[in-house]
Amino acid sequence: MAGKVYLIGGGPGDPELLTLKAHRLLAQADVVLYDRLVGDRIIALIPPTAEALYVGKARSKHSLPQADINTLLCAKAKEGKQVVRLKGGDPFIFGRGGEEIEELVEAGVSFEVVPGVTAAAGCAAYAGIPLTHRDYAQSVRFVTGHLKDGSTDLPWEELVYPAQTLVIYMGLTGLAETAIKLMEHGMRATMPVAVVEKGTTPEQRVFTATIADINDVVLANNVVSPSLLIIGDVVELRDRLAWFSKESLVKKV
Ligand code: SAH
Repeated sequence: MAGKVYLIGGGPGDPELLTLKAHRLLAQADVVLYDRLVGDRIIALIPPTAEALYVGKARSKHSLPQADINTLLCAKAKEGKQVVRLKGGDPFIFGRGGEEIEELVEAGVSFEVVPGVTAAAGCAAYAGIPLTHRDYAQSVRFVTGHLKDGSTDLPWEELVYPAQTLVIYMGLTGLAETAIKLMEHGMRATMPVAVVEKGTTPEQRVFTATIADINDVVLANNVVSPSLLIIGDVVELRDRLAWFSKESLVKKV
């Protein structure tokens, strides 16, 4: 049988957020290459018969450079193996899926991309924050706080657009600067922000604050990566919706 690479989105952490397709392909894999964002409970689903290779990718301490990962994927597929490249969230959202595919195309290796639940969708749902809402946000924008060259230069004017929810991936390190830039470009200091740490896992923590004081809250609570920032009026719905669900629970008892 010819080898093939499956670029699979494993979702943000909860194994039940894997798609049926991801689950099936994982069970059939000969080789699985996974990175740091793939949760322990998903790694536990890698069959014992498969060769499981950790390829790292903590910010600025890559355990295997991207070029070596690409080469390894091609080499394993050319040995006739069913290779799963397991990624956190969705492979095409800040997941370098495009870069890995380019190399596979050049090498003539067949592949398939399996979408996953991206952190924005998973964290928002598990934190009780609707990313859009007809009264508060007609659009949602995903940005990364960490560019390839390490800078955080973002189109600030566009990010303070009204009725827009902003989701920042990899935004923890540059948070102090991001908050200042957003306010400098017109975001009101009282704009609600949520930070979701280790979203959808049993260790999930959610903190809410305003854009003016979110960085202090993050520091005071030792918030660590992976964490996602959700900025916008929709964040306020969290308290209302949480109150509602608690209230309805009480009524049921
Ligand atoms: N491809 C991934 C994103 C990779 S970039 C996806 O679609 O979700 C890595 C960033 O994603 C992290 O720095 C963090 O901002 C976010 N992230 C991924 N998993 C997360 C989780 N379980 N909780 C909070 N943020 C998460």
